[in-house]
Amino acid sequence: MVEKALWYADGLAFSCTGCGKCCTGAPGYVWVDAEEIEAMAAHLNITVDAFLRLYTRKIGGRVALTERRPHYDCVFLRGKLCTVYPVRPKQCKTFPWWKENLSSPEEWQETASRCEGIGHKDAPLVSLEEIEKHKNS
Ligand code: SF4
Ligand code: SF4
Repeated sequence: MVEKALWYADGLAFSCTGCGKCCTGAPGYVWVDAEEIEAMAAHLNITVDAFLRLYTRKIGGRVALTERRPHYDCVFLRGKLCTVYPVRPKQCKTFPWWKENLSSPEEWQETASRCEGIGHKDAPLVSLEEIEKHKNS
């Protein structure tokens, strides 16, 4: 059987501008697992218990980072910067290469409307190989 070529087989233009908009602006969930929680707690030099109490919320048995009202800033966003950047959760590291964003050109365009790095004039073409690596990491 011949597999249908992926719609982004020729690569996609993306380069993060550091605008910080994907860390704020609308209600959302940055899910974190035990390993990520431990890494962030160690980075902040606090215990896992303190980290959970100060920076997370429980939703349906899962743990997500807290958001700050009124703009739904991630609890770790300061200005445009992430204060846990070296140990930020996988969900943050792999954006915008999420399976749902890549599911169709329409979804990708929708993501681009919220992320100025997609199709940015200075953005290099990210190869299919790179995209798949991020997507499946
Ligand atoms: S919205 Fe896009 S360009 Fe802006 S910080 Fe997030 S990934 Fe980078
Ligand atoms: S952890 Fe950092 S990269 Fe992830 S949403 Fe929060 S501020 Fe943004």
